[in-house]
Amino acid sequence: VGTHGLVLVVEDEPRIADLQRMYLAREGFGVHVETDGAAALDAARRLRPVAIVLDAGLPALDGFELLKTLRAEDDWTPVLLVTARDDEENRLRGLGLGADDYVTKPFSPRELVARLHAVLRRGAPPSSPRTVTVGPLRLDAAAHLVSVDDQHVALTPTEYALLAHLVQRPGEAVSRDELLSRVWGYTAAGGTRTVDVHVAQLRAKLGAAADLLRTVRGHGYRFDRPEGVA
Ligand code: CA
Repeated sequence: VGTHGLVLVVEDEPRIADLQRMYLAREGFGVHVETDGAAALDAARRLRPVAIVLDAGLPALDGFELLKTLRAEDDWTPVLLVTARDDEENRLRGLGLGADDYVTKPFSPRELVARLHAVLRRGAPPSSPRTVTVGPLRLDAAAHLVSVDDQHVALTPTEYALLAHLVQRPGEAVSRDELLSRVWGYTAAGGTRTVDVHVAQLRAKLGAAADLLRTVRGHGYRFDRPEGVA
């Protein structure tokens, strides 16, 4: 296992899997490759990788089915989806199913490694641990725990980072571009669709606090304090 921990690569094309293994190993990651979805799911459960690099197009159990099954039991492991270039539909589908980010084929080694480090950072402890309570929502930044009405809410690393960014500045409108840059660590034309998909996922999980996550038309999002609460 490398110094940065073990990454599970799920890729059925040996040439691409070899490239990913080489790039990631050079970067100090341990790498375990699986070529089909069922074996990958087993490996994810067994090996508990620090992150999963997942090809969307796999034979048999495809990347999306794998992602759905994985997210049903594990919200925490960051998932970087690999899709064909110009395949926005599948990209958004993957993000909607809980992938944290994506790279498109063909990718540069630098891009793959940068995106992987960015998703790993989202799961890292914050520099200034604190607990924020806004209405029914409580976010414990030291423990990375979120609850609504004292019920634990299981979030992916990206959903957590997005929520933390908004909740720590309640009442303030934050632009999509800023969210993309601060949470995902990059800016990209059209990349703000990524933000919208994750906000939709987040709302679906927030129950009684969902209404507090407001869309600011033409700009971005805002986490409101409920009325009557200081
Ligand atoms: Ca493939």
